[in-house]
Amino acid sequence: MYVYLNDRLVPVSDAKVSVFDHGFLYGDGVFETMRVYDGVVFMLNEHLYRLYRSASMIRLDISFDPDFIKKAIYETLYANKLRNAYVRVTVSRGYGSVGLDTELCKEPTFVVIAEEFKEYPESYYRGGVKVIVAKTRRNHKDALNPQIKSINFLNNILAKIEAKEKGAYEAIMLNSEGRVAEGTISNVFFVKEAGAIRESPLLCTPSKDAGILDGITRGIAINLAERDSIMVNEGSFTPEDLYSALEVFLTNTTMEIIPVCQVDNVRYSVGSVTKLLHEAYRKVVKDYVTSNKLSSLKGRR
Ligand code: PLP
Repeated sequence: MYVYLNDRLVPVSDAKVSVFDHGFLYGDGVFETMRVYDGVVFMLNEHLYRLYRSASMIRLDISFDPDFIKKAIYETLYANKLRNAYVRVTVSRGYGSVGLDTELCKEPTFVVIAEEFKEYPESYYRGGVKVIVAKTRRNHKDALNPQIKSINFLNNILAKIEAKEKGAYEAIMLNSEGRVAEGTISNVFFVKEAGAIRESPLLCTPSKDAGILDGITRGIAINLAERDSIMVNEGSFTPEDLYSALEVFLTNTTMEIIPVCQVDNVRYSVGSVTKLLHEAYRKVVKDYVTSNKLSSLKGRR
């Protein structure tokens, strides 16, 4: 297995980062996780845009351009002969002596890891996953803004520990006002019944103001719902709104759209809106892969 480290591919046994790296010492850095379908990195530009945005929010100057990162990702995939993969790009503040001053680090450390994608069990999509509402609150956006996809992941890890202790797959975190924010690695959606005025069900998801990562899958799900005339409410919601919903699902790059069968003690069946959006999402992936393969073929001619 090969890993891309700084400016080259190296065998995994040589892929070593210093104990003085500020990523290791302080969790000072940013990352992105991507999914590769049939040799194509899905939503690559969007992920790179978010990587640079996260970096700029922590004043981390990624000294190389997006084309270099794209090339590094594809070289890592080819070197490992991967067509369906999970890719993680990490950029840390880099090597520097102990201390919080970012100027101690002269060069960021850049790593690309690619691994064979392990499909989620089909039963997750058919029957849904169990989640809890965690006691751990999401970082306040004025403390560590969840829009920064930072390698400092302890907030999410603490919530994940709670989920595991309760036999749940994912934990939904509330923000400091007790409003629903997001999962440890996912965004949350739920479906409300059609009201007396509305004919179609209402799809709800916490707005960016709730203090969430604006997930790329979340954005696609909202667009697909609107395209299919499902009304979307990006708002501020309580756990009770979740408990009284008809359907609940999670979105994330690797899991796509995954139904929830239980939040705390409340159960849900996998509903029609969740199924419709997941099918539509898979079609978006298929079309994206086809058109990206075509354009790379044209590029080679
Ligand atoms: N929220 C958090 C905290 C995450 O870490 C992630 C992804 O890892 C998401 C939401 C989902 O984002 P995306 O759809 O871009 O994968």
